[in-house]
Amino acid sequence: MASTAAIQSTPDAVPRDRWRFTLGGLFRATTVCGLAMFAVVQFGPLAAARDLGIGLAIVLVIWAWSARSLSLFLAAGLVAVLGCIPTVLAAGAPFSQRSAACLECGMTRDIHEVCGWTTKDEISETEASRWAAPLVPAGHVHAWTVTSNYSRTHWFGSAPIGCGGPGEGAFMAWQLARLGDPAAAEQAYLEYQAILTGRSPKPMAVHRQEVQAAITAAVQAKQ
Ligand SMILES: [Zn+2]
Repeated sequence: MASTAAIQSTPDAVPRDRWRFTLGGLFRATTVCGLAMFAVVQFGPLAAARDLGIGLAIVLVIWAWSARSLSLFLAAGLVAVLGCIPTVLAAGAPFSQRSAACLECGMTRDIHEVCGWTTKDEISETEASRWAAPLVPAGHVHAWTVTSNYSRTHWFGSAPIGCGGPGEGAFMAWQLARLGDPAAAEQAYLEYQAILTGRSPKPMAVHRQEVQAAITAAVQAKQ
């Protein structure tokens, strides 16, 4: 009799909530890891930690609600607090968002960094680069000049924005084409190349002033 009771009680002795391998569990774990890696690459480690903290807190609250478990509610609160720390850190973390233009081909490049971690580095075509493409020397090396720089260099420091623009090259020459003088634009670009390669003795500063003056005149003529 005693042995029967022992056998009958055995199934209850095994905790039903113990972690077990299931395909569903594997799928969920893979999804969470994948999303975490995507977030780290896309938004940087701080934003990823914040988003994961918030997401995990929400999941824990739902789980706690359905299980009516106080300890799960406490866990959700703890995770939410931990999730707030990266938010505070992100508000004061060193970062930089720089835009640059290539003098040679007129393409732009956007570089975003958080704590020295590159979250974005993208080169894009522009109207100027499409215009300059037939004139650009084959196999040119990009000559990036920073056109805007929004950055915080140290923790909780200020984050000023700096702006500038390319003084010569594809972008400036294209301005003339855009304003209705493609011949002058092409000439300006070829002169820029001639100065660079030493075929023209004209100083770059003089060329820059002349192109700037031509753009100003073209703008005034349009008005
Ligand atoms: Zn280039």
